[in-house]
Amino acid sequence: MDISENIKKYKSELPESVKLVAISKTKPNEDLMQAYRAGQRIFGENKIQEMTDKWEELPKDIEWHMVGHVQRNKVKYMAPYVSLIHAVDSLKLLKEINKRAKQNERSIDCLLQIKIAEEDSKFGISAEEAKEILNSEAYAKMDHVKVIGLMGMATFTDDEKQVRSEFEYLKSVFDQMRDQHPDLKELSMGMSGDYQIAVDCGSSMVRIGSSIFGARNYN
Ligand SMILES: *Cc1c(COP(=O)(O)O)cnc(C)c1O
Repeated sequence: MDISENIKKYKSELPESVKLVAISKTKPNEDLMQAYRAGQRIFGENKIQEMTDKWEELPKDIEWHMVGHVQRNKVKYMAPYVSLIHAVDSLKLLKEINKRAKQNERSIDCLLQIKIAEEDSKFGISAEEAKEILNSEAYAKMDHVKVIGLMGMATFTDDEKQVRSEFEYLKSVFDQMRDQHPDLKELSMGMSGDYQIAVDCGSSMVRIGSSIFGARNYN
């Protein structure tokens, strides 16, 4: 894998309006630095401990995105530095993020994860639940957390039609919610295998891991 070539390829291929989040989970710091030297500044991780270790060791102008499922008791570890949390799926979690952001005298941007895939294994909430959160009094009172968009993961399948219809559904939910909540501006959808479809369907943020850094080894 030529990581810096891959970064350059994606940067030139993606429309300017689409942000590239380089998903670096399980990868060593040298690999992230290769991407960094090719100009990449947004990295995504799915484990808070691993992300925090990398944040401590790597250049401070990196934007760290948490893309995985978040346990409430670990929010405090990333609250000092995380720039976007992609997979918020409850008001309780949002409350905890607000509390920890306040302790750090900052505000943290978040996305709500909408379940669009068929598989039970995927996390997320319904469009209705997301609307309830945004319309709640509790959320209106939170001064240290801001929901700036939605995130979704399509079913893991070769059936392009299905993937496209799931992304189209998420885009329609996003557009509809944006009428009432103009703060929503980011739509995080698309991974190595399906990012082209996602971009076609209106993604503003793609999360690409293995086609930049190579296959992951989970030993
Ligand atoms: C690992 C991961 C990705 C990247 O997946 P690839 O198929 O390697 O591009 C994207 N989004 C989330 C939420 C992930 O956990």
